Amino acid sequence: MKLPEHLTIKDGHLMIGSHDCNDLAESYGTPLYVTDEKRIRENFTRYNSALKKHYNNVRMLYAAKANGNMAVLKTFADLGAGADVFSSGELHLALLAGMNPENLLFNGSSKTKEDLELAVDKGVRVSVDSFDELAQLSEVAKAKGKDVEISFRINPAIDVPTHPKIATGLATSKFGIPADQILDAYRAALEADNIDPVGMHCHIGSQILEVLPFAKAAEIMVKIAGKLTDIGVKLKFIDIGGGLGIPYHHDSDNAPTPEEYADAVMPVFLEGIARIGIKPELWVEPGRNLMGDTTILLTGVNSVKTAHKKFVNVDAGFNLLLRPAMYDSYHEVIVANRADQKPELEYTVTGPICESGDIIAADRMLPHVERGDLIAVLDCGAYGYSMASQYNCRPRCPEIMVNGDRSAYMRRGETVIDILNTMADLPWVEK
Ligand SMILES: *Cc1c(COP(=O)(O)O)cnc(C)c1O
Repeated sequence: MKLPEHLTIKDGHLMIGSHDCNDLAESYGTPLYVTDEKRIRENFTRYNSALKKHYNNVRMLYAAKANGNMAVLKTFADLGAGADVFSSGELHLALLAGMNPENLLFNGSSKTKEDLELAVDKGVRVSVDSFDELAQLSEVAKAKGKDVEISFRINPAIDVPTHPKIATGLATSKFGIPADQILDAYRAALEADNIDPVGMHCHIGSQILEVLPFAKAAEIMVKIAGKLTDIGVKLKFIDIGGGLGIPYHHDSDNAPTPEEYADAVMPVFLEGIARIGIKPELWVEPGRNLMGDTTILLTGVNSVKTAHKKFVNVDAGFNLLLRPAMYDSYHEVIVANRADQKPELEYTVTGPICESGDIIAADRMLPHVERGDLIAVLDCGAYGYSMASQYNCRPRCPEIMVNGDRSAYMRRGETVIDILNTMADLPWVEK
C-alpha cells in the first residue's frame, strides 16, 4: 500500500513520524487519535504555495469543523491561516487560538441572533445565507452602532462528483442564495443599514476528486462578480470554499494535487477579475485536504470471530469515526504490529457499538489477526474526532500530537464521570 511520507514501516511496525504506533498505544492506551504536527505544516505550505504561485493575494481559511482541536487551530494560526467558522463555538476557539478576526469568515445557514451579535462584537465578517438573515444582521449591527462587512453564500448550482450528503452546491441544496436572487440580495445589502457587502462566498462540496467542478465554480463566481461590480459592489474578496478531496483508497484513487487544483482554478479566476478590472483577495477554505492524512486512529483488537465471515472486533466504532457509517467512506487499515506481513485472509473490522452499521472497514485482506493486535485506521484527521459522540455511554478517546520525537495529549480521554456530570437529578424524584 502506498503511504504518505510521515507513515513508514520499521521492523514490522507502523511508524508515524519517528514514533512506533505500538509504543504510543502502550503509553496512551487505545482507542487513540494520533496527529502529526509536521504533516499539518507540510500540507498547509504546499496548498498555500500552489495558489500563491499564481496570485499573491490569497488568504487561507482553514475549515475549523474538520478538526477543531485547539492545538490544531494554534498550528494553523502559527502558519498565518485564518478559519472558516460555522458556529459561535468555532469562532471563540479560532480567536482563542490567536487568529486575527480579519482572517475569519462566519459561515452557516442557520445562525442565531447571539451568533450575529458575536460576529459584530468581534469584528468578524459574516457570510449571509438568506434575506431574512441579512435583515437580522442589519438590526443587530445598527443596535450596536457598528458596521459589519458581509459576503453572501452563493449557490452556484453545480453538480459535483461526490457523496450526495457532502455535495453542498446543488441547485436543490439548503445552502446559499439561488442564482436568480443574487443581484437582489446585494442590492438589499447595499441599502441595508450598517451592512457593507464586500465579498462573495461559495462552497460546492467535499471530497471532490476532480478539478473541473472547482474551475466551473470559479467561472460562475467571477461572472457574478462582474455583475456585482456593475451595480456598485466593491469586492474585497471572493471565497471559493474548500472541498478538494484526498486519496482514501491509497492505491486506486486518483486525487488531484493542490498544484493541479491551482492550475485549473487560478487562470479562470485571474482572467475573470482582469476582465472586470478588480483585484480582490482570493479566499479558500480547505479542511480535509490539510488535515485528512495527518491523523491515524489506533484501535485495539478485543476479539476475532468467524461467522459468515471473519470479524475483527476493535475498541473504536462509529462513536469515534462516523464517516464509514454516515457516508459509506473507505479508510485504509493496517495491522500496526504486523505491518510487514503478507495479507492472507479477508476480515471485516467492526466497532463495539450496538448497531449493525458499526463497521470501520469491510472485507479487507489483512495478515492473520489475533486478540491484542493493534489496527491503525488511516486518514482520520478530518471529520474524525470532530464528529465523535458518546453513543452507548462511551467516553471519547484521547487525541495526541506528535512532533519530532515528542508526543503529548492535545485532549485527554473522557471518563464516564465526565458524561455523568452533565446530567441532573430531577427535583421530583426522591433521592
Ligand atoms: C466544510 C466546509 C469547508 C471545508 O470542506 P473540505 O471538504 O473539508 O475542504 C469549507 N467551507 C465551508 C463553508 C464548509 O462548510
